[in-house]
Amino acid sequence: MKNIVFVIVLMLLCGPTLAQPDLKVAIDSLVSIDELKQHVKTLASDEFGGRGTGQEGEYLAAEYIVKEFKKIGLEPAFELLNTYHQFFYTPGKLSKRKPISLTWAGRHIDNNNKIFLVNYLYGENWEIKNCPVIVVTAKGLTEPSILQNLKDNISGKFLLLLPDPNPSREFSLRTTMKFIKDFKGKGLIMPAEKARISNEKLIMGTRGGFLAPKENNAKDFLPILYLAESDVRKILKLKRKAYKKIAETAWVNEVDEPIWKLQISGVSNASANICGMIKSPNPNAKHILIGAHYDHVGKGFDPRFSRKFSAGIYNGADDNASGTAALIESARTLMALKKLGWQPKYHYIFVGFAAEELGLIGSNIYAKRPAFPLKEMRYMLNMDMVGRPDVKRNGEKRYKLMTDMKLYLPLKKLAKDFNIQLAFDPPDTSNFNNVYFRSDHYSFASKGVPFMFFSGPEHQDYHKPTDDYDKINYEGLTGIAKLVAYTLLEY
Ligand SMILES: [Zn+2]
Repeated sequence: MKNIVFVIVLMLLCGPTLAQPDLKVAIDSLVSIDELKQHVKTLASDEFGGRGTGQEGEYLAAEYIVKEFKKIGLEPAFELLNTYHQFFYTPGKLSKRKPISLTWAGRHIDNNNKIFLVNYLYGENWEIKNCPVIVVTAKGLTEPSILQNLKDNISGKFLLLLPDPNPSREFSLRTTMKFIKDFKGKGLIMPAEKARISNEKLIMGTRGGFLAPKENNAKDFLPILYLAESDVRKILKLKRKAYKKIAETAWVNEVDEPIWKLQISGVSNASANICGMIKSPNPNAKHILIGAHYDHVGKGFDPRFSRKFSAGIYNGADDNASGTAALIESARTLMALKKLGWQPKYHYIFVGFAAEELGLIGSNIYAKRPAFPLKEMRYMLNMDMVGRPDVKRNGEKRYKLMTDMKLYLPLKKLAKDFNIQLAFDPPDTSNFNNVYFRSDHYSFASKGVPFMFFSGPEHQDYHKPTDDYDKINYEGLTGIAKLVAYTLLEY
């Protein structure tokens, strides 16, 4: 069967130039549902252990992609180094003995491990010492004069935030962290919810790509330090009643004599983006970057991610074995066309990104050390969770595309030819919980690179051990792989 298809494709491609409908037919016959199934099945197998950063499955997945890229005939994107791997450091493990220690005015307050730290790239021994601290209440953050005071004064300091005991509006940690980052603060201290403290020992990790530092450097991360409320009261020298009263009002102050020291010790591990390419015969051609993260959250419980995690293997079939499969299959399709005489007008760089789940670390690294300059990039095409479209009653398989309107309209039309539907997903750049900030395209979009982000809806198996191979809609995934292959040729 496959051979007959191939002959048809050859016949279609024999002319001097390829007419558009011919390319469409060629792609239709080249993209293989069986290949896609095989990739998802392997990447989302228990053997790959959920592809957690720093876990064995991460390396198995990376080597699987390298093997596929080689088989397809992609060249290593880092030509001079002759390698598909772009290595970088990711948060590893805390040291077993005394991983974290905090003293305030000479007193240890890390007894019973009632302290934890997030959004921090550990893996290095590191300390913060006697850094000034501004205290503000959540209500204070809504008061323009207090906000202005903070803008003027927070540079080089930690913000100690007292939550509203009777919150009337939802508090956004992301917005607060963005504020601290924008005005050059050093980090955030907060009393943690009781449940959190009692369930946890130490939590460390890096979350939120927009918080990632300029370099992959521990000192540039903005840590969030959670303490027990009783310890916060001691730091502020306040009794319970007085503390409660203050927390209810709009209030700002500086902690006097912030004599404190926070020490962290840990080890890091090496992760790698896997980067292959198809080169245009024109060496000065612009390039297109196609990306999908191949990591997921590994075997639970991994405290770097969330306290909600339970035991089990987080196979991540949809998130994001699906995108990785489509990445490999679109590369294979373009390569097959090239062998049939298609001449690439652009260079195509295919990247399996690592450490996305820890805060877009891999794509951040690539955007800082790209194989080709970003200003020569036509666009970045990202696929994340493309295995489970929204299936409508009439059988329509609907995906979302985040990009600009101009690009969306022709792609919406094209999608129908490949038996899927596209819905426009406008980027909301003012809401830090929006997916605009939550997958690898952001690392490029934030640097002004045009992007397309294909994804499906968030579903009940999202970030659960039940995100499995057999729940993938392979017709839908095939449709996406075809649409992406065609988009790469036409746009
Ligand atoms: Zn994902």
